[in-house]
Amino acid sequence: MRINRLQLVNFRNYDHCTVSFDKMVTVFYGKNGQGKTNILESIFYSAFGLSHRTNKEDEMVKFLSDGMAVHLDFSKEDEIHSIRMKRYNDQGRWHKEIKIDGKKATAKDHYSFFNAVMFSPEDLQIIKGDPGLRRRFMDMEISQTDPLYYELLVRYRRLLKQRNSLLKGIRDKNQPQEQLAPWDEEISDVGSQILIKRLDNLIKLKEISIPVFNILSDRTDTLEMKYEMKGNDGAVFYPEKESAADIKEFYIKSIRERIFKDIMQGNTGIGVHRDDLKTYINNADSRAFASQGQQRCCALALKLSQIEYVKKISGEYPVLLLDDVMSELDHHRRNQLVSFINDKVQTIITVNDKTLIPDLGSNQYFKVEKGSIKKS
Ligand code: ATP
Ligand code: MG
Repeated sequence: MRINRLQLVNFRNYDHCTVSFDKMVTVFYGKNGQGKTNILESIFYSAFGLSHRTNKEDEMVKFLSDGMAVHLDFSKEDEIHSIRMKRYNDQGRWHKEIKIDGKKATAKDHYSFFNAVMFSPEDLQIIKGDPGLRRRFMDMEISQTDPLYYELLVRYRRLLKQRNSLLKGIRDKNQPQEQLAPWDEEISDVGSQILIKRLDNLIKLKEISIPVFNILSDRTDTLEMKYEMKGNDGAVFYPEKESAADIKEFYIKSIRERIFKDIMQGNTGIGVHRDDLKTYINNADSRAFASQGQQRCCALALKLSQIEYVKKISGEYPVLLLDDVMSELDHHRRNQLVSFINDKVQTIITVNDKTLIPDLGSNQYFKVEKGSIKKS
């Protein structure tokens, strides 16, 4: 997958702007607040129909303007394609229009027609943040290749909500406790299927991201990952190759043991919604002990694994969007990153100082200043 040209009209701080991409690595550099991230956001929007940093699409429309458009020309399997995203205001109402190769398309047709993977400063939270963010990372990665997994997740969330409201009903309104039994059975069943898929995925995730991490850190650090499952009374387990039946039995037993606690709290205290993906750098929990740079490398390695995933499904590498990652990597890691992606994945990088980007002969540079882009 390769972007050939990007056109923006009234997108964020851009009026009209066209960029042609001629090399595998494109660097947008400039001072803070000039519009570098806005460019990556527009590409992300063309890929997913949403922004990577806001749920409010209208924020992407240039101030005081009544519409915006992003037009992306790209090649995929040696064919030329285009995506045009348009958002406009007509008599006070906002409309969105997606066109693929000149024809109107639905969000469903659009999704994954053009593939991109974005790494932005916020992704550091995959390592530093709460377990929920790591579960979300796992869930998104598995859902991309396994539609059944997504269905299981939706079912699980619904069951959890229903079970929790039943727990509150038993606590507050004297509803009979026996009503819980079928929910306990079903939630344990769906939860065990989710867990098995997460464990399977972890094997693949390790296969891809540990070698990437080794390249980035030049083997000065080691990375290990484990799936952490919580039991009752603070017990933790690190399952690897369990059977769905064993896991289900474990959940049913544990959920029954803690039934009074769950009723008191009006909440289900055990299950896949409480688990975590633990990462260890040099055998120490990276959330608590790794340096900022080591955490950045670890998050990057996890994220880069998505490139291989997309390649597996679509047969082609996605476009990689790297927002401001270079400044926190040392000289050696920057070199390793660029040599890893060079000539394989089209990469678009933003940075304040262009000398931070190693040049292996396939870089092109654009200076970004107050919403205008100049080749340099
Ligand atoms: P940094 O190096 O700090 O990350 P950047 O070059 O990535 O900076 P961007 O986030 O791309 O900066 O752009 C921010 C600029 O875009 C700000 O000056 C902001 O005022 C402007 N901006 C954001 N949204 C809009 C909008 N809807 N209309 C006009 N300008 C906007
Ligand atoms: Mg930025």
